[in-house]
Amino acid sequence: MSSQKQAVPPTPLLEEKHNGIPARLFDKAQKTKARILDIATKTQVTRRREPAIPQGIEKGKFLEALEDLSRQLRKENVEIVDKPLKDGWYMENPNTHDSMHVLDDEEFIASAIVYPGDTAEVQKIVLWANKHHIPIFPISIGRNFGYGGAAPRVRGSVVVDLGRRMNKILDINPDDCTCLVEPGVTFYALYEEIQARGYKHLWIDVPDLGGGSILGNTLDRGVGYTPYGDHWTFHSGLEVVLPTGEVIRTGMGALPNNNSWQIFPYGFGPYADGIFSQSNFGIVTKLGMALMPDPGGYESYLYTFQKEEDLTQLVEIIRPLRIANILENVAQLRHVVEQIACLGKPRSTYWQGEGSMPDDVIHEVAKSLSHGDCTWLYYGMAYGPKEIRQYKLDIIHKEFMKIPGARRIDPSTLPKDDYFWSRDRIASGVPDLEELAWVNWHPNGAHIAFSPVSPVRGVDATKLWKIAKTRCNENGLDLFPTYVVGLREMHLIVEIVFNRDDPKMRKAIHDCMRAMIDDAAKEGYGEYRTHLAFMDQIAGTYNWNDNALMKFNQRLKDCLDPNGILAPGKSGVWPARYRGRGWELTKEGRETSEGNGVAPPSASTKL
Ligand code: FAD
Repeated sequence: MSSQKQAVPPTPLLEEKHNGIPARLFDKAQKTKARILDIATKTQVTRRREPAIPQGIEKGKFLEALEDLSRQLRKENVEIVDKPLKDGWYMENPNTHDSMHVLDDEEFIASAIVYPGDTAEVQKIVLWANKHHIPIFPISIGRNFGYGGAAPRVRGSVVVDLGRRMNKILDINPDDCTCLVEPGVTFYALYEEIQARGYKHLWIDVPDLGGGSILGNTLDRGVGYTPYGDHWTFHSGLEVVLPTGEVIRTGMGALPNNNSWQIFPYGFGPYADGIFSQSNFGIVTKLGMALMPDPGGYESYLYTFQKEEDLTQLVEIIRPLRIANILENVAQLRHVVEQIACLGKPRSTYWQGEGSMPDDVIHEVAKSLSHGDCTWLYYGMAYGPKEIRQYKLDIIHKEFMKIPGARRIDPSTLPKDDYFWSRDRIASGVPDLEELAWVNWHPNGAHIAFSPVSPVRGVDATKLWKIAKTRCNENGLDLFPTYVVGLREMHLIVEIVFNRDDPKMRKAIHDCMRAMIDDAAKEGYGEYRTHLAFMDQIAGTYNWNDNALMKFNQRLKDCLDPNGILAPGKSGVWPARYRGRGWELTKEGRETSEGNGVAPPSASTKL
């Protein structure tokens, strides 16, 4: 085993690659990678593959079009995808496909990758796609794991990988506490740059892992865990290349020579930003973001709750405290099974049986955790100088302890490598890599998330928990539920880890996801974000007033993108050329990702 570990090739460093690991996390990255490789069994195909040509264009014409693009952007910036697919791992992620694929890995796959170097080159790519009627799909870093990774929705799309060459931090304003970034700036990169510039008073807000793009994560409405956790809320200003090639700046960015782009998001007139998030209406090339000022102190806390049924009372306690900002950050209420998985060992260490791991086994294993056995854990952080923190911590303690069996875990009793300290880093804006541990629950570990939104109410939390638990049990799957509590709503994020090399397991996941989405919609819950494979189904649940919202989105799509070249099908929004041809992946539909062709381009839509 140790000789295997020595053989682990080094993870690229941030100083070598825009998406590399900061030097301070190198050892952790190596350990994480070794753990993944230790149990990996998926055989790597070595033969060359035929590129996936998108429907609507014949191969010869497609290759000619790529030549045309290579001439415009230089040969080294255009790559055809004809080599064997490499899944890599989180830190060395492919830009060709979803390396955590829930369908076959050849389904959501790129035909070619293009690397623009600036906004003008993004415009060129968009105009090229219109000229040849080729679908394109933007990624910033392509680590959208659980939601599709780097994969395009339409097989054979040309992936526009913005991150590789457009990765500048354009501005950090230490007075206004804002920044302006290009697509390839990761949370790791921004954090390290802030430290390097000595801006000790500036915090960033980070998701569980720091390797994602600030811009990509924000566009997908991702979350982090400081009081600035809702990234979309804290962005201000976009630069966007429209599908027809024009460039716009939103908010104050539309006013030449203004100095308020990153501090006042709205500008004047209709607020356009919303239509560029989770959408296929534009390629974003710059994004402004608020940074949090150092609050002058912070303190993490952890409470555990014994019984599954405690959930109802606990969530009722959380709601008023969160709305009043006594619970200040986007905190996490987790099930203990995920804590077991956070040790990074595969589930076979604890249980070799078929089906979901039984509750009694979970609780038996949980006894050996640093905090002992329990069912729910609340990880939070109080901010500010000691006396301010104490005021809030006392209220929280009094309220949480009303639940029989509740315990406050004294952090000083926890070892330095305990998971608690990773949450402490994340909630204080220090990007980490620890969270990847639970994806090792199965060999060739992949994960997918079921993420419904609900009010912060005990009855809703319990209903969603039951839906998820019932469906996962039916399909023989383990579930890692975490309630991520925003200000007035919460996302239940049910992570399901699977072996991506096991078609039976992938099918079980697929069936389970479809059933949970339907069950939730029947009760009035919708998901905040999803994997490419479930976008059509979820978009279909937002169907009030005879699908009025989707009709509106389709009208916008057809108007902004008359040739339907930009990320067709993203979030269930299909352009006219694809509609009515069976591209939608729904419960009733096939589980291959392609439809039956696209309509020929109409002469009137030539740009
Ligand atoms: P990308 O993959 O580059 O893009 C994300 C989406 O935005 C894609 O749909 C893409 O098409 C679109 N997009 C990207 N760039 C552009 C552009 N320039 N113009 C238009 N559209 C664009 N996520 C969270 O939010 N919070 C978490 O706490 C979290 N925890 C995770 C834990 C684990 C263990 C793992 C594996 C993943 C987790 N994720 C989490 C999911 C994911 O890793 C992050 O959200 C990550 O930031 C997304 O990848 P990215 O930033 O590289 O975005």
